[in-house]
Amino acid sequence: MKIRINGIDCEAQPGEFILDVARRNNIYIPTLCHHDAFAGEARCRLCIVEVVERGRSRVVTSCVYPVAGEIEVATDTEKIRSLRKTLLMLLLARTPQNETIKKLAREYGVTEVARFESDPQEECILCNLCVRACEQLGAGAIYAVNRGVTKKVATLFEEPAEECIGCAACAAICPTGAIKVLEKEGKRIIWNREFEMVPCSNCGRPFATAEQLAFYRARLKVAPDRYGGDRLCENCRQKRAAELASLMSPARLR
Ligand code: SF4
Repeated sequence: MKIRINGIDCEAQPGEFILDVARRNNIYIPTLCHHDAFAGEARCRLCIVEVVERGRSRVVTSCVYPVAGEIEVATDTEKIRSLRKTLLMLLLARTPQNETIKKLAREYGVTEVARFESDPQEECILCNLCVRACEQLGAGAIYAVNRGVTKKVATLFEEPAEECIGCAACAAICPTGAIKVLEKEGKRIIWNREFEMVPCSNCGRPFATAEQLAFYRARLKVAPDRYGGDRLCENCRQKRAAELASLMSPARLR
């Protein structure tokens, strides 16, 4: 079916979310809590858009709004910009020093911050992506704890978690860089736990924690060092794959 976004005709599947259709058609809609690996959760709400459906206009959250019929979508109207400005004002009040939020707030002309008390060190916007990534991976080491203004992401009792494998997937997916990872002298520190890092067997660069490699081996059910691959960093792994591919090319095999 066809929908129109900012006057552009876009092909959409029934049930597809507006944000996905827009992205596929290179139409920008801001969002912080959306990641292609996960279904939308409408946490940050920055992806709000105006939808006209059967003559009725309303504001919807595009990451969770499924296309069910012909609609007109406008992603950047005066009303939407004003609502996003308010949302960013609140996010900035929560995370006053965060560069990602400050940049977005500037783009929407936020000059004043809502008058709430906040921790000047806070950088988390509670988007939940890190918790979902950790859960999906199968580690389940971090959770959203507490309620209301004290809600935050933490390990159980904020102790170094046994379940944590130090993979730092949580930090990689975090849209605001709120999760701090310290890597120094062959060690990685994350969530108050220190991990020894394993050096790449080719270039020698520490690239993963021993717990992370053991976890992947167990999950993927591969023997240690099968193909000589699981001790290689991503760079060396790609180089080796390219070398193998060129050795196996029909021209070389002739
Ligand atoms: S730490 Fe980052 S990924 Fe986790 S909830 Fe906060 S902003 Fe989202």
